[in-house]
Amino acid sequence: MAKITLKNLSHSYVSKQNSNEDWALRDINIDWKDGGAYALLGPSGCGKTTLLNIISGLLRPTKGEVLFNDKDMTSLNPVERDIAQIFQFPVIYDTMTVYDNLAFPLKNRGLSEIEIDTKVKEIGEMLELTSTLHNKAAGLTADGKQKISLGRGLVRSDVNVIMFDEPLTVIDPHLKWVLRSKLKELHQKINRTMIYVTHDQIEALTFADQVVVMHEGQIVQTGTPVELFEKPKHTFVGHFIGSPGMNILPCDIKNGQITFEGKILPNKINTMKNNFKITQVGIRPEFINFSKDGIEVKIKRVSDTGRHKVVDVECRSGNIKILANSSTKIPSGSAHISFDQKYTYAYGDNWIIE
Ligand code: ADP
Ligand code: MG
Repeated sequence: MAKITLKNLSHSYVSKQNSNEDWALRDINIDWKDGGAYALLGPSGCGKTTLLNIISGLLRPTKGEVLFNDKDMTSLNPVERDIAQIFQFPVIYDTMTVYDNLAFPLKNRGLSEIEIDTKVKEIGEMLELTSTLHNKAAGLTADGKQKISLGRGLVRSDVNVIMFDEPLTVIDPHLKWVLRSKLKELHQKINRTMIYVTHDQIEALTFADQVVVMHEGQIVQTGTPVELFEKPKHTFVGHFIGSPGMNILPCDIKNGQITFEGKILPNKINTMKNNFKITQVGIRPEFINFSKDGIEVKIKRVSDTGRHKVVDVECRSGNIKILANSSTKIPSGSAHISFDQKYTYAYGDNWIIE
């Protein structure tokens, strides 16, 4: 097991870099603590796989260092790093049985027959592969093959970290749920560092203690699911996490005051900077209430999901979504709304101003 540190890491797939777009990763600094359960969350193309491949040694970073327990590993190859990496699509030996596929990584390490047998059966049981252990892998469904791939990653107990790169993409939705809780359970049991890559916020938030959110090659925030929800450090985290996401609306910021729709909000912010290119106010739909006075809005649409109502309203600055209890009486026509001050944030060029 190891603590993994990425220091001033940047990566580009092109030889000459002219703009930010030429960098797949930009200035990544992070400590993955020993034994932690992490999710790496971000949309397709934001650099997740590139980051995993740099940790495992499949890729040499353009700049920066990879350290395991403070020891520089940047120039070591994947085998020397002792890492288990599970890819998006199954990597297995079709002509071998399920059992032999699972046993393979252990045979390579020179474990005894008995140790191998115990391990293989334990992992097979966990992944519900027991009844197919002696079948040829070739005959299995995509689901079944990916379960073997997972098993091959989980079977070794001497790895520094287990990394999963969107491993449930090919898995049927019902089984997805089962496997996800199994992985979580397994993490609690073996307490090994795990990094779980996904573009799905639900998967990330249910698996991890710490979620690392990536956007256009940068880490924009690392935090617990609650922290990401309650205080997004970047507008991207605000709208990517939550359903519906945070409302991000244009506002004026001057001399420590936020002016929105001609009204000064009670929040005080601490910035001397008055030359942001974009200034915005962020408020989650959960933290907006209908009120006697406040910001004037027009009600556009109400969708009742049973558990709550999503209300779309419009003001001069744009459209706003409000999440109300099912029992809330929604005014029709025009109304006034107010923002819960505690969860209202100002953003300058997309980063939070505190
Ligand atoms: P993710 O896993 O989050 O979808 P990737 O790490 O695969 O993102 O890709 C990040 C960026 O790097 C994307 O713009 C992608 O097009 C580019 N990229 C990924 N792999 C390569 C490659 N082998 N050669 C050139 N560009 C690549
Ligand atoms: Mg990827």
